[in-house]
Amino acid sequence: MNIEENLSTVSSSLPEEVVLVAVSKKKPNSDIMKAYDAGHRVFGENRVQELIEKYEELPKDIQWHVIGQLQRNKVKYIAPFVSLIHSVDTVKLLNMIEAQGEKCDRVIDCLLQIHIAEEDTKSGFTPAEVKELLSGGTLNSLPHVNIIGLMGMASYTEDQNQISEEFQSLKSIFDQYPDLGVLSMGMSGDYSLAIEEGSNMVRVGSLIFGERN
Ligand SMILES: *Cc1c(COP(=O)(O)O)cnc(C)c1O
Repeated sequence: MNIEENLSTVSSSLPEEVVLVAVSKKKPNSDIMKAYDAGHRVFGENRVQELIEKYEELPKDIQWHVIGQLQRNKVKYIAPFVSLIHSVDTVKLLNMIEAQGEKCDRVIDCLLQIHIAEEDTKSGFTPAEVKELLSGGTLNSLPHVNIIGLMGMASYTEDQNQISEEFQSLKSIFDQYPDLGVLSMGMSGDYSLAIEEGSNMVRVGSLIFGERN
């Protein structure tokens, strides 16, 4: 497994405007440092405990993204340093991010996770809920939350058409809100499809760091 080579292969396959989040969950610091030394700075983690340990041990100019389901009682641990939370899936969580952002005097960038897959196991807002959130007054009372885009995960399936359709449905929601800049969709198995459908941020783990146990 040559991490530098994998990183360079994935990076060079992306259009210039697409941000690569290297998903380093379950991988050791030494692996992250290989990507770091090759110049990469944006990493994604899905477990708070693991993220805090890595944050403390690794260089401070890393931009840490939270990509997995986030429990409200854990927001306080990441609020001081997190760069972007992709996985905001409830208003209660937004309220907690507001409270913790205020405590550490930060405005925290967030994406709203949208439910696009057929599977019920994946969480996220419905299009109607997004509309209410972004067009209603809710955000006015959340000055420490900055919603900069949307995130979604396609179904775990071999059916490329289904995946593309799910990405299209997310893109069409995204297009209704011209103020949003970030559309986070695509993982190792489907990031090319995601980019075809308009993604500008991909979250790639196993293609860079190898399979996880
Ligand atoms: C693990 C994970 C990824 C990366 O998955 P790979 O298939 O290893 O690229 C991307 N997004 C989320 C939300 C994840 O949990």
